[in-house]
Amino acid sequence: MWQLETQFYEVIERVPRVKSFRFPKKGLNLRYRAGQYFYVTIKVDSKPMVHHFSFSSSPTESNYIEFTKRITDSAYSSALDEIKPGDWAMIEGPEGRFTLPNKIKKIAFICGGIGITPVKSMLDYVKHKQLSFDCILLYSNTNADSIIFKHELEQLAGYPGIRINHFLSGSPSPNAPCFHHGFINKAAIETLITDHTERMFFLSGPPSMVEAIGLQVAQLGINSKAIRMDIFTGYK
Ligand SMILES: Cc1cc2nc3c(=O)[nH]c(=O)nc-3n(C[C@H](O)[C@H](O)[C@H](O)COP(=O)(O)OP(=O)(O)OC[C@H]3O[C@@H](n4cnc5c(N)ncnc54)[C@H](O)[C@@H]3O)c2cc1C
Repeated sequence: MWQLETQFYEVIERVPRVKSFRFPKKGLNLRYRAGQYFYVTIKVDSKPMVHHFSFSSSPTESNYIEFTKRITDSAYSSALDEIKPGDWAMIEGPEGRFTLPNKIKKIAFICGGIGITPVKSMLDYVKHKQLSFDCILLYSNTNADSIIFKHELEQLAGYPGIRINHFLSGSPSPNAPCFHHGFINKAAIETLITDHTERMFFLSGPPSMVEAIGLQVAQLGINSKAIRMDIFTGYK
């Protein structure tokens, strides 16, 4: 475990109301596994307040560690929205077992909205380390403009072991002709992941989404030991 006082290094707006925040890593021993999470304390009205976030960067990134947050109306979120490079933070971690398995090489990631963060960390890691995983991602968003890391995911999808299918739950748009429309359900999983019984499933996102997908995956006969969930408490 590590714990240190640090300063924000960079803030990047990904899509409206979603920002990535980076802390410097160079020369520091900030070890973690792709898919884990850490604690971030910031000052809210001069008082420390902590929330936890998945890393959205790969551990192989040598210059920074990154998390990505949906900006809500909460006190913490509002303070984070005002953060500038150089502002104080305390970070502590890592925690979590939502990480790549050692033996199983076939993975199915299913996530919605902000639930992409630990998956982005793992896919970046697979690509950077040139690991021989066979990964399929089903990623659900409202529309094409709300896809977090859209450009980065396009680049990851060019890697041989990574396939990505986008699902849009909002009205069909001419900007997204190649995307699937509607919610991710049992039929979609069965059609797109034909070898689903051979895969380990990783589900992440808001509680309602993860619970709904978890039921659909269980109905496909996937053993509960082959399903890992990262439930982002604090969202609906
Ligand atoms: C393992 C894990 C990884 C996460 N990774 C991310 C991430 O990468 N990006 C991201 O945006 N969010 C992530 N979250 C969610 C994050 O920790 C916050 O809960 C969320 O961002 C809401 O915070 P807020 O400031 O917007 O709202 P808040 O007002 O702080 O929270 C909204 C409501 O949820 C309740 N709540 C907040 N946190 C918790 C909690 N831990 N348990 C139960 N109830 C809670 C509050 O009491 C409030 O009623 C993660 C959560 C978990 C458990």
